[in-house]
Amino acid sequence: MELCEFQSIFCEALEKNGLEPLSPAKTEAFWAFTLHLMRVNEHINLTAIRNIPDVITKHYVDSLLASAYIPQGARVLDLGCGPGFPTIPLAIARPDLKICALDSTDKKIKFLFDATNLLALPNVEAVSGRAEDAVIRKRLGEFDLVISRAVARMNILSELCLPYVKQGGAFLAMKGAKGAEEEQEAAHGIALLGGRVIASHEKELFLLDGSSEPRVLIEVKKEKKTPPEYPRAYAAILKKPL
Ligand code: SAH
Repeated sequence: MELCEFQSIFCEALEKNGLEPLSPAKTEAFWAFTLHLMRVNEHINLTAIRNIPDVITKHYVDSLLASAYIPQGARVLDLGCGPGFPTIPLAIARPDLKICALDSTDKKIKFLFDATNLLALPNVEAVSGRAEDAVIRKRLGEFDLVISRAVARMNILSELCLPYVKQGGAFLAMKGAKGAEEEQEAAHGIALLGGRVIASHEKELFLLDGSSEPRVLIEVKKEKKTPPEYPRAYAAILKKPL
């Protein structure tokens, strides 16, 4: 694929999903990222989605659906960012954001670090570690918004994410068809962690073949401080989810 075909597919995918077109410079940054992702993905397994139109819709547009719920200038933590979703699309589209991208897999963070250098993205900090690690816990309560896609069920995810949100900030969980069910299961834990679900934004991700997939963005406001024992060690979380 060439840049001009990429531009036209991306433009169509954004329009189908009711999103604003991107400037040529931002589209070129997405193109450079795509080439890097495809190249590295040939020998390191970063994503199972290998076809560029699907990368555009299922990774880029899907990530950008969250943008409407992120306040201007926010300090964001993307917990379990993998090779950079939603970090990279948000960082390119929203230079006002400062994004800390955390993942427990070193090779994914190394990839992301190289990608941010290649794209000269000054607003991404790539950090290797687990949310429950002592060194990462030093940043508890630091972020205006914690976002996470495809990392864990909502009850487990809430314990990993909500402690990192500052009081008055929010946690945004990017979920698929099972979002509503997971939200109910997590209600008790969310309250215990100082949060309250303020909205469940139901969306459709429109693909290029005319089909669509359900998405839900669960917005949790952090109203009270999280008790200091959270997040617990991962084994304890799994053994007895909140
Ligand atoms: N958000 C990306 C990746 C999802 S895969 C996307 O939507 O494509 C889930 C990722 O979460 C994996 O890369 C895994 O390494 C990471 N992860 C799982 N538990 C974690 C934890 N406790 N702390 C940090 N990263 C974690």
